[in-house]
Parts: sequence; structure tokens; C-alpha cells
Amino acid sequence: MSGNADDNKQCCGGGCGSGGHDSGGLGADQSLSGPDAGRRAFLRGAVAAAVVTLAPGVMLYSYGDEQAAAASLKPRAPNQPASAKIRWGMLIDVNKCPDGCNECVTACSTENGWKHEAGSLQDSQWIRKVTVRDRKSGAKRSFPVMCQHCAEPPCVDVCPTGASFKRADGIVLVDKHICIGCRYCMMACPYNARSFVHETLEDQKPYAPRGKGTVESCTLCVHRVDKGRPTACVEACAKAGHDALLFGDLNDPSSEIAKRVAQYPTHQIRADLGVDPGVHYQNI
Ligand code: SF4
Ligand code: SF4
Repeated sequence: MSGNADDNKQCCGGGCGSGGHDSGGLGADQSLSGPDAGRRAFLRGAVAAAVVTLAPGVMLYSYGDEQAAAASLKPRAPNQPASAKIRWGMLIDVNKCPDGCNECVTACSTENGWKHEAGSLQDSQWIRKVTVRDRKSGAKRSFPVMCQHCAEPPCVDVCPTGASFKRADGIVLVDKHICIGCRYCMMACPYNARSFVHETLEDQKPYAPRGKGTVESCTLCVHRVDKGRPTACVEACAKAGHDALLFGDLNDPSSEIAKRVAQYPTHQIRADLGVDPGVHYQNI
């Protein structure tokens, strides 16, 4: 495959060294084969508890409810710590993800309050669509890439202040209060998953605080997950009728995601790095 790739025109998330968007590893230009063996190898390697009762015994479930049921999601009590028995993860079926669809990106932007404005230095990219093309067949694949919520996250290893941390349930986050904006994590992340906040921000979501001079990335919608709701991207994809994204507990053999990972061939991007991403890809 000849490696060209186009994405949703958002640049990588940091550390790419190219101007407006600072980020680290998986860039927009990716290919599944061709001379750029490094990049080719790289790619190998939803609830709203709004269950409406229409009549006794008759309930209407939202897309979010279906996704939450598939993910075995339950609300976490405020005084209950995240459980190490859980490993939250995602499974992305590339065959179900149409080229040109950006529902997941839009949903994430709306949910978490980040966006790119023309002329702005700020180009946050909590999730982006990447399109790869086989140089020989010309076949294209389009799929979303976000923080992979690694089990062995290099971003956490290099953070000098402890601002980058991994919860017991596998969600990797940044504590804005102790992030000093050194961007070591952006350089260490192999997936270009983090962005630096260059500008003063307004209209922030209270559950997704951001701050000028700090680094940010996908939170796996931790504010929703802790309430027993699926991520905004998963919910939006299902609502659009694609069902390309599946969220759930990889450690729970009865969860839909664990069953599919066990039953079908799936890949973690750059599995060779040994960081054990929590995001798996099917049909890539
Ligand atoms: Fe990058 Fe992995 Fe850290 Fe996410 S958890 S920022 S993908 S290194
Ligand atoms: Fe840690 Fe912030 Fe530096 Fe990243 S930019 S390594 S989160 S202090």
C-alpha cells in the first residue's frame, strides 16, 4: 500500500515539531504497506441511564442503554475507588467505520468542549480520524485514533510531577493542577495522543477541566464511565448506525468486548512496543 493518509485535517497532538499542534507519535500519514516500513509496522503491531418506562414492564432503551448493557457498565459510588479488577478498553471494527464519517470526533469535541478554530494555535485532538491506503491495491481504511490507555504508559513513566497517572481501572489521565507543561509525556507517547493547551480557554465543561500551559488527551469519558455511561464517541457511533466502536471491561469474560477480543483476530497498534494499549482494532 502506498502510504498516504489523510485525517480530519487536525494535525497531530504534540511533539510532532510542526508548528501549531504539538504532539508525539502516530501521525496522519500512515500506510499499511510500502517502503515506509516503520509506519506500516506501526499499524500492525455509550448511558444515559434514561430508561423510560412506557407502561409496567415496557421500557424504552436509548442507544446509550444498549451500549452500557454491552459494556457491563455500572455507576461507581463517589466513595468507591476505581477497581483494579476492571480494565476499561475499546474495540474498533475498522470494517464498520466509513471513510468521511466524523461522528465520534464531533461527539468527543461537543462532550468535552475542545475544538479547533481557524487561525488559532490551539489544535486539540483528543480523537482523530486517520485514513490509510494500501499502496498496491489502493484499498483504504479509515478509523479513529485516541489515547490508547496503555497498561504500561510511557507518558506516566516520564512525567516528573506525577500529573500523568493511570487509574486502577486502566484509564490514563492528566491532573491539571500539577502538570507543569513540560510536554515530556507528549514526546514519550507513541500515538500522538496528547495536545498542549496554548491559549486561554473559555466555556469549559466542569467535568472536563482544561488549562492553558497544560497537556490534555482523551479521558475515556471518565466522567461518564463513573456514572455507568458509555463514552460519547461510542454512543455517537451507535446512534449513527455504524456500531464500529465498542467500550467495555476487557477483564470481564462476560463482557461483549472481551468476548469479541477472544473470538476474533484483533490488533493493538504498535503492540511491539510493549505498552499494552487498551484500544484494540479489528479488521485493520
Ligand atoms: Fe500516549 Fe499511551 Fe500515555 Fe495515552 S496512555 S498518552 S496513548 S502513552
Ligand atoms: Fe507531566 Fe504535564 Fe510534563 Fe506531561 S507536561 S510530563 S503531564 S508535567
